[in-house]
Amino acid sequence: MNPGRYVGRFAPSPTGLLHLGSLLTAVASFISARQHGGKWLVRMEDIDPPREAPGGASAILRALERYELHWDGPVIYQSTRVQTYRAAAERLLTEHRAYRCDCTRSKLRELSKGSPVPDRYPGICREKNLGAEQTAIRLRAPLEPIGFEDTVQGSCLCSIDAVTGDYIVFRRDGLPSYHLAVVIDDAWQGITDVVRGADLLDSTTLHIHLQHTLDLPTPRYSHLPVLVNAQGQKLSKQTGAAPVALEHVEEVAFDVLRYLDLEPPLDLHGAQPGELWSWAAQRWDISRLAGRQKVAEIHRNVAADSAID
Ligand code: GLU
Repeated sequence: MNPGRYVGRFAPSPTGLLHLGSLLTAVASFISARQHGGKWLVRMEDIDPPREAPGGASAILRALERYELHWDGPVIYQSTRVQTYRAAAERLLTEHRAYRCDCTRSKLRELSKGSPVPDRYPGICREKNLGAEQTAIRLRAPLEPIGFEDTVQGSCLCSIDAVTGDYIVFRRDGLPSYHLAVVIDDAWQGITDVVRGADLLDSTTLHIHLQHTLDLPTPRYSHLPVLVNAQGQKLSKQTGAAPVALEHVEEVAFDVLRYLDLEPPLDLHGAQPGELWSWAAQRWDISRLAGRQKVAEIHRNVAADSAID
């Protein structure tokens, strides 16, 4: 990796509108890129149509624009790249690093009853040599644990074999796994720095394994502590997080910086988001968030009040 070059990205899945938690991730990756004089790319991870919200992708882009989070270059849509992901999965099969699997979710649920690691795939199809019909493609898990240094979370070490087992890179329904697509595109787009929520920390071990297997570079990782609601749950569509307001954006932007441990001076109160981001980029030090489980607890659904109109 060229030490002087910084390419960051924001990679939302258009399963819903941008909520405060995802805005915080977008801002943290944006100001990190700007702080390093680097590029900030947006990639739409639209590879799971059954989970996507109609119009979700364009609504997310509109919200980013409204918050003056201006991306560099064209937005990449993963739905246009499925052939590339498929070719990579096929290559893994040819090299015998992956195999086809016809286990259904319900069969695996039944088999894992009482297991101390119910999510670990027990390798049922490893030696079956199944055909393409109605099968997923699973990558063989490495026996040795994978370790990496996260800028925010510190040293991480995890055994894929013990926790996940052989994992899916291409699904039975013909769609690529998030893990395969994200790793291929981070490399293809030359991403040097991934800044995202700590809820994806466990996936990173799979991503690093995939990068090693596909001969791709490993970017630097920074997993941000998450925003939680009053019940201590991560803000997400599932926990009922409201879409971010598209009005009074300067107030929401001011709050986002405070959640990121930046205290903008009062004379910046009322400044437009772009001005706040420029101020923040000059002071930002992502490692200051180290050791924190969460960045803030949102008691009032700040975004909801003005979003519903
Ligand atoms: N698309 C993923 C999500 O919205 C994030 C992917 C990533 O940042 O690696 O949760």
